[in-house]
Amino acid sequence: MGTVKNVLVVGAGMAGMTLGVALKQAGIACEIAEIRSSLTEPGTGISLQGPALRALQSVGAVDRCVARGYGYSQFKTCDAAGHVTGTVELPRLLGPDYPATVGVLRQAVHEVLAEDLSRLGVPIRLGTTIEEFVQDDDGVDVVFSDGARARYDLVVGADGQGSKVREMLFGPQHRPHYTGQMNWRATVSKPPEVKGRYSYFGPTNKSGFNPISDTRMYIYIVQNVPERPRWADAELPAMMRGLLAEFGGALGRARDEVCSPEQIICRPIFSMILPPPWHRGRVLVIGDAAHTTTPHLASGASIGIEDAVVLARMLRSDEPVAMVLQDFIGRRHERCRMIVENSEQLGEWEKNPSAPDVDTVGVMARSYQALAQPV
Ligand SMILES: Cc1cc2nc3c(=O)[nH]c(=O)nc-3n(C[C@H](O)[C@H](O)[C@H](O)COP(=O)(O)OP(=O)(O)OC[C@H]3O[C@@H](n4cnc5c(N)ncnc54)[C@H](O)[C@@H]3O)c2cc1C
Repeated sequence: MGTVKNVLVVGAGMAGMTLGVALKQAGIACEIAEIRSSLTEPGTGISLQGPALRALQSVGAVDRCVARGYGYSQFKTCDAAGHVTGTVELPRLLGPDYPATVGVLRQAVHEVLAEDLSRLGVPIRLGTTIEEFVQDDDGVDVVFSDGARARYDLVVGADGQGSKVREMLFGPQHRPHYTGQMNWRATVSKPPEVKGRYSYFGPTNKSGFNPISDTRMYIYIVQNVPERPRWADAELPAMMRGLLAEFGGALGRARDEVCSPEQIICRPIFSMILPPPWHRGRVLVIGDAAHTTTPHLASGASIGIEDAVVLARMLRSDEPVAMVLQDFIGRRHERCRMIVENSEQLGEWEKNPSAPDVDTVGVMARSYQALAQPV
């Protein structure tokens, strides 16, 4: 048994919930504080690539995520009219019995992890955040927003890109920056012939869709907008249909289904890699709180879930906690930096397609090759 025996996890996103499950499985007591009043996740779909599936497999959650989503192993590129210009076989990191990637509603992944937390008896303080902490050599005294107090061996902030824990540790200078792109997503019906992810390259925008079940898929578009905009919800359907106007094929047909604001999630894209160390004493950040990545490699959840699995594994060590955290960051920082910086670079090339050094295919291939290495 290691020196860390009880952990507070702040944030019940994919990283925080996976950490809760993995810690309990490693025999380490833990508790989660989540600011939302329920474990619901308002986002649309997400694609869980091989590294995310491999990490979810290590905590016993992969089969249920695959069952609740849509597994596929092919990615097709199309021109604006919808003619297929290329087919890429995606690597099956879990072997031939599993798909390379799973498109799934975020809520479905949260439900799978919430089931495991409940079965393992991990307490969750809903509607609660950390208000302050004071640490000494042996532990961290925490005051919660509801006035409750408790002491832990370790506190882990998995509270996402706007992390309060990161700000409490390092101040505001590491806030993620807006990259000059907006991400649009809308859930629509999936035609039966769609069996994988599609990307369409139009004269102005890159778009595409990703299946999340036998009957549903989500459309995505990345739009270049230099200054961060503020649009009213009511404007979104017409704007999204306008952005999709240059596309034909299955994407063009799906455009007519985009008609209500509730269907659409339109978010600014942010990026940030926290320089090491990701901790002060016994308080650490992981997931988007430590590395917020743009969606260009669809790998933010992969590296956040990996953080959780690797950290839980390393915390079984008998080494002093300072040494374990230093080793953890040594093992994670470079991999996460590579994903954050390469993702942002891909976005930069979308904004400046005539830049002399554009190498989108090369950067994508090298990034996925590096991510395929075991953690
Ligand atoms: C548009 C877009 C598309 C993406 N698509 C993909 C994709 O296809 N595949 C992929 O792998 N990645 C994708 N990503 C990245 C992925 O969504 C994130 O990397 C991942 O969700 C991060 O998980 P997390 O648990 O670290 O943070 P989050 O999912 O943000 O979870 C943080 C949790 O902490 C809670 N919280 C926040 N503040 C506090 C607080 N003060 N106290 C307590 N709790 C708090 C939040 O309510 C939330 O539950 C995408 C990102 C974007 C922006």
